[in-house]
Amino acid sequence: MARKPFFGGNWKCNGTQESVDKLVKILNDAKDVDGSKIDVVVAPTLIHLAKVHESLRKDFHVSAQNFVAESGAYTGEVSVSMLKDIGLHYAIVGHSERRSLYHETDEVAAHKVKVAVDAGLTAIACIGETLQEREENKTNEVTTRQLQAYANVIKDWDKVVIAYEPVWAIGTGKVATPQQAQQVHADLREWLRKNVSEEVADKVRILYGGSVKGDNAEVLIKEKDIDGFLVGGASLTADFIKILKSGL
Ligand code: PGA
Repeated sequence: MARKPFFGGNWKCNGTQESVDKLVKILNDAKDVDGSKIDVVVAPTLIHLAKVHESLRKDFHVSAQNFVAESGAYTGEVSVSMLKDIGLHYAIVGHSERRSLYHETDEVAAHKVKVAVDAGLTAIACIGETLQEREENKTNEVTTRQLQAYANVIKDWDKVVIAYEPVWAIGTGKVATPQQAQQVHADLREWLRKNVSEEVADKVRILYGGSVKGDNAEVLIKEKDIDGFLVGGASLTADFIKILKSGL
C-alpha cells in the first residue's frame, strides 16, 4: 500500500516575529513543492502558532508542539480545545524533550494522543530510545513499550502518525544510518501487524527523526518503511525545502 509521505518541521523553542515571517515566506515560495502530493506540517512555538496558521499557504499545515487535555486552572498551558478553536489539525505528542525535560511518561503521552484524536486532531506521536538503551540492545523493547502505550488508547489510527526519533540522533548531527532506521521502522510495523492489525500496519506512516538534513533525506526516504521525517534544526532553514523534495 502506498503511504503518502509526511514531513514535519518541529521548530521547537525558536523564532522571532521576523525569522518566522522569513521562514513562512521560504515555504510559501517553494512552488515546486505540492502539498497535495506530500503532507507538510510545521510546528511553531505557541506564541507564533496563530500567525503562522494565518500566513502559511493552505496546502501546508500547522501543528502544536504540546498542549494540555483541558482548559482551566493550568497556568502557562494551552489546551487542545484552543488548538481546535484556531483551526489547527495537528499536534506533536511525546517528543523526547517533553519526556526528558518535563517528565512526561508513556502514560501522559498516551493520554495526550487520546485527547488529541478525540478532539479530531492528528497526533504525531513520538517514540525513541536513548544511546544507553541502544547500547544495551533495548531499542526494540523501549520503542514497542512506548508504542504499546499509544496503541492502548488509539481507536482511530487514521489520526495518528508515528515518529521514531532515536534520542541519540536528535540535535546531535549523528543521524541513524538508513539500515538502522529501516530496521526499527520494520520492527515497529511488524509489531503493529501482530498487535493491532494488518491494515493499520500497512497504512500508518512511520517517520524518522534525528539530524535529518537535505543531504541525508534522499537516502533515508528510499527505505521501504520510512514514510517521511520529523525535522528539528533543518526545518528552521531553507534546507527543509530540499528535505521536502526528497518525498516528491
Ligand atoms: P533534529 O531534531 O532534526 O534537530 O535532530 C529532530 C526532532 O527533535 O524532532
